[in-house]
Amino acid sequence: MVKTKSPSLSFEVFPPNTQTGIVNIKATLDQLQTLKPSFISVTCSNNKNNIEETTLRLASYINNNLNIPAIAHLSAAYLSTQQVKKILTELNSLHIHQLLALRGDIIPEIPRKKDFEYASSLIKFIHEQNLDFKILGACYPEIHPESPNLVSDIHYLKQKVDAGCDQLITQLFFDNDKFFTFKENCALADINVPIIAGIMPITTRKQALRLIKTTSAHLPQKFLAIFDKYEHDPASLRTAGLAYAVDQIVDLLTRGVEGIHLYTMNHAKTAIDIQNTIGSLFKTNQQ
Ligand code: FAD
Repeated sequence: MVKTKSPSLSFEVFPPNTQTGIVNIKATLDQLQTLKPSFISVTCSNNKNNIEETTLRLASYINNNLNIPAIAHLSAAYLSTQQVKKILTELNSLHIHQLLALRGDIIPEIPRKKDFEYASSLIKFIHEQNLDFKILGACYPEIHPESPNLVSDIHYLKQKVDAGCDQLITQLFFDNDKFFTFKENCALADINVPIIAGIMPITTRKQALRLIKTTSAHLPQKFLAIFDKYEHDPASLRTAGLAYAVDQIVDLLTRGVEGIHLYTMNHAKTAIDIQNTIGSLFKTNQQ
């Protein structure tokens, strides 16, 4: 079994699509750089066919200007084999050798390409190119919304890992018991790669409202009580939301999680607060 020596701390950012967003992301990344993360991953969008100008450009900045290992997300449901080949060549020339291989969400209005029906076909293809990429995949502690049941979800996750996934990152979750049950199910299915926990600290009313409206993740009573009590008190909501995330992360770390991946939403402040509180529990990237 491949295990990291001590847990990693990493961040997710997304390519901004406004001029203000571009200025902000540079400031955010400057701040995140000081935290010496193990890596920063950059999301991609399935409905925009310009990954070179968005994801790859930002990942290159992180990797080559800031010297932080970057992971580029690559979702292939709407890409042809030739397009993926071109992107892999580009990543290689940018010295980015890690990617998160995804199918991506299905957008009913856009006709799909048939080349990569699932993430596992993309992962298999990347391996066949012999370009020496470390490949990560997505996983879902509370099962993927399209999966009919747990058995199916774990079955296809096993297929994805066997196709050549070196590591998994989870969908966000707020109930650690769901994560540990998922880990047990993975172990039973002989899925033995490191599983990094994706955590999104909820610190504003806007974030909480969006989450409550859209997520299929279980929101524990303890989490909802924070929102009930501090909904109209931004400073207290931030303090309590941050404390919830810190508590969740400490519980994960003490019970042996291999790494924490923070969904930053392109803001550094929460990551800095977490680092200031429990930074010594993580290994740092010495690069
Ligand atoms: P897959 O692994 O292909 O799975 C999709 C569904 O198909 C699952 O239900 C699975 O059980 C099922 N399945 C798999 N193989 C088979 C098979 N052979 N036969 C039948 N069913 C099968 N989306 C973006 O657009 N951009 C991003 O940057 C992005 N980043 C993400 C990062 C993380 C950490 C996570 C967890 C998700 C991310 N997503 C992103 C969302 C993701 O694209 C969606 O959840 C998408 O619907 C599934 O992608 P996948 O790679 O997990 O798909």
